[in-house]
Amino acid sequence: MTTNSATPSNTTSIPCPDPDMVVLVANRGEIARRVIRTCAAWGVKSVAVYADPDEHAPHVTEATASEHIGPAALADSYLSIPAILDAAKRSGATHIHPGYGFLSERTDFAEAVVAAGLTWAGPTPASVASMGSKIEARKVAERAGVPVIPGFNDSQDPDALAAAADRIGYPILVKASAGGGGKGIRIAHSPDEFDTALTDARTEAMRSFGNDDVIVERYITRPRHIEVQVVGDKHGAAIDLGTRECSVQRRYQKVVEEAPASNLDPETEASMRAAAVALTTRIGYDSVGTVEFIVDAASHEFFFLEMNTRIQVEHTVTEQVTGVDLIAVQLSVATGEPLTLSPDHFDTALATSPAHSIEARITAEDPWGGHMPQTGLVTTLQVPDGDDVRWDAAIVEGSEISPFYDSVIGKLIVTAGSRPDAIAALETALQSLSIDGLTTNVDFHRWLLLQPEMRLGDMTTRFLDETPLPRSTPFVDMAHSPWQTLSARRLTPHRSELAFDSPSRDDRWHGSARTGDAGSHIESPFPGLITEILVDVGDSVAAGQTLLTIEAMKMLHPLTAAGPTTIASIDVSAGQQVETGDTLITFTQTPSDIDTTGSAQ
Ligand code: ADP
Ligand code: ADP
Ligand code: MG
Repeated sequence: MTTNSATPSNTTSIPCPDPDMVVLVANRGEIARRVIRTCAAWGVKSVAVYADPDEHAPHVTEATASEHIGPAALADSYLSIPAILDAAKRSGATHIHPGYGFLSERTDFAEAVVAAGLTWAGPTPASVASMGSKIEARKVAERAGVPVIPGFNDSQDPDALAAAADRIGYPILVKASAGGGGKGIRIAHSPDEFDTALTDARTEAMRSFGNDDVIVERYITRPRHIEVQVVGDKHGAAIDLGTRECSVQRRYQKVVEEAPASNLDPETEASMRAAAVALTTRIGYDSVGTVEFIVDAASHEFFFLEMNTRIQVEHTVTEQVTGVDLIAVQLSVATGEPLTLSPDHFDTALATSPAHSIEARITAEDPWGGHMPQTGLVTTLQVPDGDDVRWDAAIVEGSEISPFYDSVIGKLIVTAGSRPDAIAALETALQSLSIDGLTTNVDFHRWLLLQPEMRLGDMTTRFLDETPLPRSTPFVDMAHSPWQTLSARRLTPHRSELAFDSPSRDDRWHGSARTGDAGSHIESPFPGLITEILVDVGDSVAAGQTLLTIEAMKMLHPLTAAGPTTIASIDVSAGQQVETGDTLITFTQTPSDIDTTGSAQ
């Protein structure tokens, strides 16, 4: 399968606001395809715009019409307001959807769209302006009674900023006022680091945003990033659609997101959601948006971070647990329709059908090589299927990843009835996601899911920085593994039951379907230390599910189930040293237990 998932889980129908609407998407990649999908579901026209490198990109072929807007240079294409407005005029567009990034939070763009008589799928330009500046946003949040991080936003004078940092107390963060995407943020642990932090933050801010104003904030040392999805309409309604947890970050950028946020006490959650709605109401916010908070994991205090006045990358997990198509809501309220969702939609949805959703951002970068961005051609792409899996991607087979754009090539989203089940489902889905021709962070996500913080839901935004990364992928690739001969021999005659993670899921599957004698077991393929046992006696396990991990040669090796089976006994314990050939786990499988009709993934 190389296409994107057909629709988000959309159980709450949002009617098309206007059958004659023509939606131009001023963006590219997965978010352009996502908006086009909602237009297609409504049966309305969509217009893709593209720069030279994107001539054959999927968003261009999937839209009902497309317009060329310029060369690779961003300033002359996706960031060119005149080029996009020209395309809108040529194509007869009635609406402009900005996606995220690019021009989505540019006040001048919102104003130009409105001035051209088009419908802007975002909040009023005044809201974009007040929330786009962290200086202004802090003031508005304070007026709405929302707690802000102790900080300083009254002057750009270096001495005044340094004096404020002394008053606030180190460590402090210097943050670009116009910032976004984690750019223009620097930490100073002590006064002697202040000048460098200020200079670096200003330089990066000027390069990224053309504005080098900064704020200084107390650095929260055990921070969790929790955000609230809000929606307002043009008739004064404002509601929230619950929380998301986005603490797994690298360089202030999100890597994994979940909905709802777990590990949040009910009072804190209720206060944060009320604060987000208060802010939304206060500014007359009339679109979908996200209010981001930092929660101090130690004290449970929460503070306003910023408001993103656009659809968020991780809107998907909220869609999965609420059954609401947020792009549909965004286009509907932009057209002037009143919000039809009730203020308790989120709570009712979760009470009726408990759900937890996790998104893994799949990027073209080398996780074991300093996360260096990678370019290349996607030769083959295999995507997991199943009702619990959603794949929102920029790529298809044959896609060329060029150096011009963001490294996010797809988002793998799984949904289950509980957080542990969602984690297990994501592990399985990651093992079935195969992207050939390009180095990606898929294995990095698999490694991430094995970390105790992740399993317990106990992450702070520093967790990734504080956890040593393996020097290379901890997952054995059968095709290239030094263990290949050994493991194949050692696993015989029970290799059908368990195998190392194999590059071909089909091999595992067919293997498992052939045999499965009661009492069969898995032996250790090499000497090592049992680091974690992920199953219990009596558990039914699915193909691809990780059963236990062994550490050898400073690497973690997960052992996964080749096919569906049940655990009869666990013959080792975590922390135990094992030798080659030791029995690790025994199964109760009989041939009739094996479902040969389809994939368990
Ligand atoms: P989210 O909170 O939805 O994850 P991010 O802040 O990470 O959003 O940004 C989403 C995307 O938009 C990223 O590709 C990021 O680099 C880009 N981006 C965010 N803000 C800006 C901005 N002001 N200018 C340019 N790109 C931005
Ligand atoms: P951006 O506009 O780039 O998204 P944010 O203000 O949302 O900027 O900050 C991005 C990330 O930086 C947050 O998710 C959080 O991890 C971290 N961060 C920001 N401010 C603080 C702070 N005062 N203390 C600790 N971490 C912070
Ligand atoms: Mg942010």
